[in-house]
Amino acid sequence: MTEAAYETLPELESSETRIGASTVVMKFGGTSVADPEKIRRVAARLVDTKRAGTRVVAVVSAMGYHTDELVDLAHQVSPHPKPRELDMLISVGERISCALVAMAISDLGTDAISLTGSQAGIVTDTVHGKAKIVEVKAHRIHRELDGERIVLVAGFQGVSTAYDVTTLGRGGSDTTAVALAAALGADACEIYTDVDGVFTAAPRVVPDAQKLHAVSYEEMLEMAASGAKVLQLRSVEFARNHGVKVHVRSTFTDEPGTWIREEDERMLEKALISGVTHTVDEVVYEVDGVRPAELFEALAAAEVNVDTIIQMDSRIVFSAPLDDRPQADDALTGLGASYAQEDGLGKVSVVGAGMKSHPGVAARTFATLRELGVTPKFVATSPIKIAFYVPHDDVEKTVQALHEAFDLGSADAERQHA
Ligand code: ADP
Ligand code: ASP
Ligand code: MG
Repeated sequence: MTEAAYETLPELESSETRIGASTVVMKFGGTSVADPEKIRRVAARLVDTKRAGTRVVAVVSAMGYHTDELVDLAHQVSPHPKPRELDMLISVGERISCALVAMAISDLGTDAISLTGSQAGIVTDTVHGKAKIVEVKAHRIHRELDGERIVLVAGFQGVSTAYDVTTLGRGGSDTTAVALAAALGADACEIYTDVDGVFTAAPRVVPDAQKLHAVSYEEMLEMAASGAKVLQLRSVEFARNHGVKVHVRSTFTDEPGTWIREEDERMLEKALISGVTHTVDEVVYEVDGVRPAELFEALAAAEVNVDTIIQMDSRIVFSAPLDDRPQADDALTGLGASYAQEDGLGKVSVVGAGMKSHPGVAARTFATLRELGVTPKFVATSPIKIAFYVPHDDVEKTVQALHEAFDLGSADAERQHA
């Protein structure tokens, strides 16, 4: 049995969409705003888009590695920072970059205003560090757009139903952007980043990985859930549930990138698989003698994001992010469960909508592993994914071998779209 723990999403009102005015949400990641020169370049791009007649909402991430530095600073002061205070601290990075971009836009002669997540009307639940958006109250943004301003929204944060500052989990600016695009009825959500789009594998691990032209929501969900960190998983869930078209593209060029959208015929016919993803940021737990209902209720109550689940007789194997380890340990100890955990395993996943209509993907995957002398553990599948665990040291060579076995490095493997 396998299951990806996707969550239910809030309903968003897009009734406020202005007739006749097209809106775009443009999100810039940390490397895109890493220094003053890059901030000025982002400002110029936003001004160009506005001058072409579009209402522009921009979401920016913290500059460079600022969020990492803030997390590190907190841990230098306190071994276990209180989650509420940690959110107060790390939400600051996005406020800085937002204000700086707004200043640079003003210098170019266009009106701009920066807003915190709270000012932008992003309301979340009360789970600090990985809050979920429960509502977007877009009236302030609409008012500013009506006043001909470019609106900058600090990514990755909101205000909770208890009026505290919350953050949305690492990489959460993607989710801010897609949620705003849904709430504003935007034509598209453009995600500007340091790579040209979504690739057939992590470009750092597979040098001949190819940019994909189009990926279905379902494929992107599987890829984001299994390590392609170019989009935060939750942003893809939002996009799928609200039909937001997402365009992942480079900050540094004008080239088109990758469109994430509904599946179409060509996606099923052309490529057998779309990509090979991997992650080494998971812990695998083996639990004995606890009923599944009790186990997963306790893990859910502890806010542990369970991923792969495999049950074998009385044994249950599941995986969860490395970051959730303290909460998972507490939950398992609280149940009095006997369990073992393994953090030396990485997960490799072969993903593609094409495998629904083409047999033989599993055969080719396991034949490749046999030739490589790698023994997969805990195999889990969905209609469009085959995933398994291998020791950390084998992860990269396994990804490279599968990428080659499915011929993903050739330009022909690319999926064309209109
Ligand atoms: P940003 O700061 O713009 O949000 P991220 O670091 O979150 O950027 O995501 C972009 C990075 O994701 C790329 O630099 C790339 O190394 C990595 N990545 C991993 N897998 C993939 C993939 N399949 N396609 C594209 N990028 C990927
Ligand atoms: N700055 C936050 C992070 O580094 C959010 C983001 O970049 O999306 O995780
Ligand atoms: Mg990111």
